[in-house]
Amino acid sequence: MTHDRELFEIIAREEERQNTTLQLIASENFASRKVMAATGSVLTNKYSEGYPGKRYYGGNRIIDEVEDLARRRVVALFGSHLPAGSIHANVQPHAGANANLAAYLAVLEPGDTVLGMRLDQGGHLTHGSPVNISGRFYNFVSYGVTDSDERLDYDQIADLARDHRPKLIVAGATAYPRIIDPEPLRRIADEVGALFLFDAAHIAGLIAGGAHPNPVGVADIVTFTTHKTLRGPRGAAILCREDLGAAIDKAVFPGLQGGPLEHVIAAKAVAFYEAAQPEFAEYAQRVVRNAQALAAGLAGEGFRIVSGGTDNHLMLVDLRSFDPELTGKVAQEALDRSAITLNKNTIPNDPRSPFVTSGLRIGTPAVTTAGMGQTEMASIARLIGRVLRRIGDEPESAAVRDEVAVLCSKFTPYP
Ligand SMILES: *Cc1c(COP(=O)(O)O)cnc(C)c1O
Repeated sequence: MTHDRELFEIIAREEERQNTTLQLIASENFASRKVMAATGSVLTNKYSEGYPGKRYYGGNRIIDEVEDLARRRVVALFGSHLPAGSIHANVQPHAGANANLAAYLAVLEPGDTVLGMRLDQGGHLTHGSPVNISGRFYNFVSYGVTDSDERLDYDQIADLARDHRPKLIVAGATAYPRIIDPEPLRRIADEVGALFLFDAAHIAGLIAGGAHPNPVGVADIVTFTTHKTLRGPRGAAILCREDLGAAIDKAVFPGLQGGPLEHVIAAKAVAFYEAAQPEFAEYAQRVVRNAQALAAGLAGEGFRIVSGGTDNHLMLVDLRSFDPELTGKVAQEALDRSAITLNKNTIPNDPRSPFVTSGLRIGTPAVTTAGMGQTEMASIARLIGRVLRRIGDEPESAAVRDEVAVLCSKFTPYP
């Protein structure tokens, strides 16, 4: 067979891009070589519809060991503080969106009322956006952040819950820089007789590393992606109360998915193993400290940081304080030309559309995996300031690009 040079050259170029440019997208990370080895293993060849011990195909004795190992490890990682057997794990969801949809399918009927966070204030598409199936099949009511401190106000969520009597309360966000405390949400859910789903997609790694409160055992269902702060393969998992396990399993398969991706489940098992090591707790702390250092550096450059700072792996930057005319779209494109990759994002009460925006979302999980620390965060803040002060100045853009190349050459994720 001849070598598929066409494709593998493209992959090599993407590896080069990841090694030589700054990755500041808050939902991204660098998976380990072991995670990627499992993803590229022979497990990709096997059909294993069903669950360990109850498969629709033969030849699954070894595959069952893989999936059982992944399930045991994820329960140990997030549920070691709970009585044995009280938490059920499903490691089959192909992505975070599927995990959330499976949770809804397991506990809701179409038309049921659900309380979730507003998309334009940090929530996720699957928390009731009208363009997502969640918003089309269920009656989502949204809560947001306050105008004053741009944080969640649990009293306001409680008032909404009393008014709307949701069957489910969803917590979790894609662009919220503060700790989400599961305890007050549990109390609100109990008061109104709702179930409580915590979507920990972004912060699963921070929870595993002990840097954020653990919702497992507090919420009835916890969904999370494995590829963001958790640093595993692209995919997701669900942890839930044991008595909801059968409904969750049925919702994932046959409700939503067909054959599980056992090669990815194996890679999730690798990630759960890595996240259980003491170094991972240090990593989680460093991610947060780096985000705080980067936010402080950007504030020093004249950018307003939404809510005044960050408790997690990301910050939202309000560009209007820096330059009232500057949009997130223009800033993202200018930074991209200087090899700094991040994304535009709406900020709370953003007057501009989601395609334009007045903000940027910046995250530290990937650069922290690459080994960068607070000194590098200070440099990155200065580089961002330089680019955005002189948009359209090609020599300045090239000078920053060169500095980024030097920085990345010292912190290469895949040497
Ligand atoms: C990323 C994310 C998801 C979806 O994950 P995908 O794997 O992209 O489907 C769901 N919820 C939240 C809060 C997220 O941040």
